[in-house]
Amino acid sequence: MTEPHLNLIAGAWVAGDHLSENRNPSDVSDVIGLYAAATAGDVDRAATAAAEAQPAWFAQGPQPRADLLDRVAARIEAAATEIGTMLAREEGKILPEAIAEVRRAAQIFRFFAGEALRVPGEALASVRPGVDVEVTREPVGVVGLITPWNFPAAIPAWKIAPALAYGNAVVLKPADLVPGTAHLLARILHEAGCPAGVFNLVMGPGSVVGRAMIDHPLITAISFTGSALTGRTIARTAVEGMKKIQLEMGGKNPMVVMDDADLDTAVAACVNGAFFSTGQRCTASSRLIVQAGIHDRFVEALSGQAAALCVGPALAADSQIGPVVSSAQLQGNLDYVALARAEGCEVLGGERLNGPTEGWFQRPALFLGAHNDMRVAREEIFGPCAAVIRVADFDEALAVANDSPFGLSAGICTGSLKHARAFRRGAKAGMVMVNLPTAGVDYHVPFGGTKASSYGPREQGRHAVEFYTTVKTAYSFAG
Ligand code: NAD
Repeated sequence: MTEPHLNLIAGAWVAGDHLSENRNPSDVSDVIGLYAAATAGDVDRAATAAAEAQPAWFAQGPQPRADLLDRVAARIEAAATEIGTMLAREEGKILPEAIAEVRRAAQIFRFFAGEALRVPGEALASVRPGVDVEVTREPVGVVGLITPWNFPAAIPAWKIAPALAYGNAVVLKPADLVPGTAHLLARILHEAGCPAGVFNLVMGPGSVVGRAMIDHPLITAISFTGSALTGRTIARTAVEGMKKIQLEMGGKNPMVVMDDADLDTAVAACVNGAFFSTGQRCTASSRLIVQAGIHDRFVEALSGQAAALCVGPALAADSQIGPVVSSAQLQGNLDYVALARAEGCEVLGGERLNGPTEGWFQRPALFLGAHNDMRVAREEIFGPCAAVIRVADFDEALAVANDSPFGLSAGICTGSLKHARAFRRGAKAGMVMVNLPTAGVDYHVPFGGTKASSYGPREQGRHAVEFYTTVKTAYSFAG
């Protein structure tokens, strides 16, 4: 095994108080590396270094920030296979998906390299003669970024890039299960010339490292992506400390399939939306709401394709679905499969599978005959499991789609312009998809949801400026 991987604090690689093993969910005998777990003291040093470095980082103007983000984008792109292989190995996403995610991270850095030069502002006439009013945007200061395990490259990228573009300094805490990808990104930022203290990496458990970030007075804003439960806990403490917060959380995303849908389009959208990336996407289609006239044909085609998906190790060339990320997550999924049966569903698939190596493999599951009031239709499972709910017509489909504590992404497959338009307008979700999977988004437009899925300003695209800057209104009287 190679050297332990350390935290990046104030421009130096530093040890924590112990090392954690990073294991491969496709093959639990494969220890990918040892990663230093930071302490609350390390978080304090990182936050202090960030607070010291941030004013100069902002004061030098946008060009050096744009240049750094451009260099980072190029280095990520050049290392896409290396980082993608790490991502596939530690998270379990199949290699083509993992490499695509890394390329997405590079695109995001390149996009925000441009945005650094386009920070918006306004100049207005005052209501008082002789007075000018200018509205400018300034960085919020030190931003704490707390990220989940399911997109270990893209989610850190879509937080780090805008934070740095708008002149903030960063303390990043990646999820405990996936420190390897974050460490490679940190190395790239460091080697690309990010000034000491402007970007800091602190790895380790949320209960220690994340908690210390939320409590730290020098961290002025927290951008979090993860479960709704953790988000609520973070929100309470962060608001007590008067921090600005942005929370991106779970989903129970509906995909409506109307009688007038093209069957092949609908089945392809649902196979992708429900099962790709092992269903471990916040935007995964976990409720398939199907009109009665197409229901049986749809279920027959979908279950056939789901059963034929090749589940296997993330790095194997023929795998279409990688492993579940951890034994705990797999057990949770299997518990939901048992619950679906207990709630009266007919379950197709869903069993644990043996692979060529010891890993957390599971066959995709369909819960047939589900009702929207069942727990399996209301709670986020975050695995390759989808509940199929039969409805009579469009009005019932829309009502069922909207009857959820979550509101991240909502989709419809239909050949009717009328239904598509009514769904786009009526869906209570932050993102709406027509004849497309609920998962899979662009990087230059806003990302986020409603209800328990999101809290605070949107991420991504130009809308990211809302969270990563604060507005200053200046009045001048020329005399
Ligand atoms: P999680 O909530 O368990 O952890 C997310 C992060 O929070 C991790 O880094 C974790 O270490 C940290 N954390 C945990 N407890 C903490 C605490 N008390 N204080 C501070 N930090 C703490 O989520 P997860 O299991 O890593 O990710 C899966 C969840 O993320 C799912 O619910 C999924 O829907 C959601 N997600 C949402 C989006 C989105 O953009 N809406 C995207 C991806 C994933």
